[in-house]
Amino acid sequence: MGVSTRTPLIAGNWKMNLDHLQAVAFVQKLHWALKDAKHEFEAVDVTVFPPYTDLRSVQTLIDADKIPFGLGAQDLSTHDSGAYTGEISGAFLKRLDVGSVIIGHSERRDYHQETDEVVAAKVQAALRHELVPVICVGETAEDLEKHGASAVPVGQLEIALEGVPAKADIVVAYEPVWAIGSGQAATPEQAQEVCAKLREVVKAKLGEDAAARTRILYGGSVKAANIASFMRQPDVDGALVGGASLIVDEFAAIVRFQKHVGV
Ligand code: PEP
Repeated sequence: MGVSTRTPLIAGNWKMNLDHLQAVAFVQKLHWALKDAKHEFEAVDVTVFPPYTDLRSVQTLIDADKIPFGLGAQDLSTHDSGAYTGEISGAFLKRLDVGSVIIGHSERRDYHQETDEVVAAKVQAALRHELVPVICVGETAEDLEKHGASAVPVGQLEIALEGVPAKADIVVAYEPVWAIGSGQAATPEQAQEVCAKLREVVKAKLGEDAAARTRILYGGSVKAANIASFMRQPDVDGALVGGASLIVDEFAAIVRFQKHVGV
């Protein structure tokens, strides 16, 4: 066992938290906290996923202050334009210098009835606009009991990758639904086992090169105290962080996991 050789990605999903003024203050504080700690920015990619209404303000800040954070969106429409009230096109996100977009988060699957087919259409929409889809998959507590940990996420990823070209830049996030926001993270062993199986799916669908370069994240109650145990796993290349991404010092400590990974 050893840490992955891919550049780690620590992604902060803010969900419906922080308005645009709070978002700007947060990003500035996070940047200062990491600079004060002499963090090596090139060693770990950091991406924040604010609400849509914050994107322009955060993009302007990171551009003006040359803050080395990626900017992501939390969702996008399957359509590119037209009569789809309330929807946001990937084309608009791209114009805002958004680089990636979360797709298929369990809260979208659950509260907005997003099926695997909708998720697959959103992956295609992201790729049409050169946005990196961060494809979320994961099992519920019931799935875990009935089918084990990997069957559902593997099936979800197989559908999401239908028609995706081998050269596509994608990120996969394994997020057990029961671990999200519950304070009860998966064990690092379970995260490793499922992430390894998801890498097999990437290999079967997109080929060996894609499997070797694609980053697979773990998400679900990640915090500073447990990030190291996940990052020690060879198939875990980073984390998708919800609650803890809203606390500057906690998120900075997660980004700085290399200081406490202990390998
Ligand atoms: C998430 O919502 O993607 C998530 C992982 O949340 P939390 O870190 O709060 O469990």
